[in-house]
Amino acid sequence: MRLHQIFAISICWATVLLTSCEALLKVPIPGCTDLHSFNYDPEATESDGNCLKMYGCTGYQGGYANSGHISTSIGNAYVDGLLQEEIGYQRAFFQQVPAQLLILFEPSAELANCYANAQGELLVGYHFFQKHIGQYNELAVAGVMAHEYGHRVQFQHFQQGKWLNDYAGKFQVELEADAFSGLYMALAKGAYWSEMEPYFQATFDAGDYMYNSRDHHGTPQQRMACAHLGVTAAAAILNGQLGTQYGDIHQYFMQEIRNRIAPRSEEAPALASALPEIPLPRLTYTQRQAYFPHE
Ligand SMILES: [Zn+2]
Repeated sequence: MRLHQIFAISICWATVLLTSCEALLKVPIPGCTDLHSFNYDPEATESDGNCLKMYGCTGYQGGYANSGHISTSIGNAYVDGLLQEEIGYQRAFFQQVPAQLLILFEPSAELANCYANAQGELLVGYHFFQKHIGQYNELAVAGVMAHEYGHRVQFQHFQQGKWLNDYAGKFQVELEADAFSGLYMALAKGAYWSEMEPYFQATFDAGDYMYNSRDHHGTPQQRMACAHLGVTAAAAILNGQLGTQYGDIHQYFMQEIRNRIAPRSEEAPALASALPEIPLPRLTYTQRQAYFPHE
């Protein structure tokens, strides 16, 4: 509640002129009324034209009250344990790329989100977690976190002055994060494409996974093709056909994204609607560890 509303109510109580209360309370409240903005103000009734644009899942801006608040706990010790366990697996996989897990309490369920930032934080939204764990399963939560971890890998290389000019647009950054997610699921979790395909399909179709627009992260078909590309890369690495340095993997991902999945041309490429299962050698976790990416 805003000060002038409180003031208005006080006046009402003081004067007991109940009929004028309604009129007083209808004083327009200027602010950002766009639900998909960083500084969305749920109390605003009139747009002040100062909405701050969201920049996908890498665009968390601190200091805006309506971006939510951040905590180290989701408020449930068991779930905290699950998330810590998962981030531990991801840290072991994405070697030399640090990420601190934090919980983002989004302002509302509609604003469910996850973020990664250049400061080394990976933020899992409370509402986001509830929604995904309810609709899908732990594998889906791990997949989303790995997409965010993919952004951490990108940020680290940007900070080293690398990869900066490799993307034709933000959507290619996002698509590569999907490829890193598929790579993690296959190479670290040992998951098969058929196991991850249903939740990737469901979240991409919903335009989910950091809202804004359906196409913000690339089309659902492009995103599916990139998650699949990650599994293809895992198979290539395990078969000794692709190097294990971040640079090798990035080069392979970008080549496929640029040439086949999301080229610069306006023309949408014809992507196979049904993506085939990719055979992965049956290896133990310890055996697969030798193939985890590194600098
Ligand atoms: Zn993203």
